[in-house]
Amino acid sequence: MSNDIQSAVPSADDRVDLVGLSRAELTACLAGIGEKPFRTKQLWHWIYHQGETDFARMTSLSKGLRATLAERFVISRPRIADEQNSADGTRKWLLEMADGNQVEAVHIPEDDRGAVCISSQVGCTMTCRFCHTGTQTLVRNLTAGEIVGQFMVARDSYGEWPTPTDETRHLSNIVLMGMGEPLLNYEAVAQAVKIAMDPEGIAMSKRRITLSTSGYIPNMRRCAEELGIKLAVSLHAPTDEVRSAIMPVNRKFPIADLMAAMKEYQEIAGQRQYVTIEYILLKGVNDAPADARELVRLFDAAGIGVKFNLIPFNSWPGAPFETPSVKAAQDFAEVLTRAGYAAPIRIPRGRDILAACGQLRSASERQRLSRLKARLAAGIEDPDHVLPADPQES
Ligand code: SAH
Ligand code: SF4
Repeated sequence: MSNDIQSAVPSADDRVDLVGLSRAELTACLAGIGEKPFRTKQLWHWIYHQGETDFARMTSLSKGLRATLAERFVISRPRIADEQNSADGTRKWLLEMADGNQVEAVHIPEDDRGAVCISSQVGCTMTCRFCHTGTQTLVRNLTAGEIVGQFMVARDSYGEWPTPTDETRHLSNIVLMGMGEPLLNYEAVAQAVKIAMDPEGIAMSKRRITLSTSGYIPNMRRCAEELGIKLAVSLHAPTDEVRSAIMPVNRKFPIADLMAAMKEYQEIAGQRQYVTIEYILLKGVNDAPADARELVRLFDAAGIGVKFNLIPFNSWPGAPFETPSVKAAQDFAEVLTRAGYAAPIRIPRGRDILAACGQLRSASERQRLSRLKARLAAGIEDPDHVLPADPQES
């Protein structure tokens, strides 16, 4: 593998995976086998427009070239380790990467469209207290190929290849709201998003891609400049005191700085681009009408175009918070709507399969733990070194 192909990941048999490479990197790969740059466009079309994974079926290429490609490269997908379907139509995949690490991706269907929620990291280091993903011990960044690959799995699953026109897509949106903090893995996320936006492939418009951040400010500006996708910010509290208590990231990047970063984002990405403010309602912590009034004061003064998204806390085993009553959530929403802000209360989707916001982790960790236990039972590993505390079982 040539060293200048930063994103290339060798597959199990040392063939380079082409998924996740930029066009320039793909061109470099092709140059390595003596092919001219114009082949990049052809191959790109097969991979990202047709969704083809088998070189042998790339009929616009000569048989000789198809054989050479198959010797040197692969077009892979994360392996589906498990798939679950919720009673409400939500589908969740447990996806396994080449090194055995697992993440989850979720499809949330609506009438004639739907969002695919994808992960940016295995686990998350931000340790927000209300989030199940933040309790996962195993963490690593995903590569660009592993990130865009999750969406490609969803397209495989729904047979949505070749890329349909905008109007006929069931998988119409991508939300980076799965496991991980996308701005802590900015380079790979940006490369994956650029691939998803490429008009000759997956062809997703920037207005249909949303990145959700807990407020890691340093990469927000680049995201606005280089990607211009929709931004969602997990605010979850109107004051630094409460926010720092539930989101450690706030100690380094407090609310005033975050507000300034959102304003800058909007100035760069365009005033029509609303910032979504995600707000989890945690009973007795941040769900009082006075908290809503504080939010109104904050945003009235800020001059940022925002919409709120109120998310009643989705519980998980061992969670230190409770979900507020429907009445409390409605009262909270009313303060915001009276002040002129859109503030829908999000109906959780896929709760029965632990696919709702903040619940991702359990399935993969459970599987990991049961695998470890099986190995332990066979006397292969030392329990003190491999078994993390499991809140599921405490
Ligand atoms: N790391 C990013 C994106 C992934 S989390 C972020 O934090 O924004 C996606 C959304 O789910 C965030 O708004 C997050 O705060 C929210 N979330 C986390 N745990 C939750 C829970 N238990 N109930 C409801 N929403 C939760
Ligand atoms: Fe990470 Fe987001 Fe969960 Fe916080 S809410 S721990 S940033 S995934």
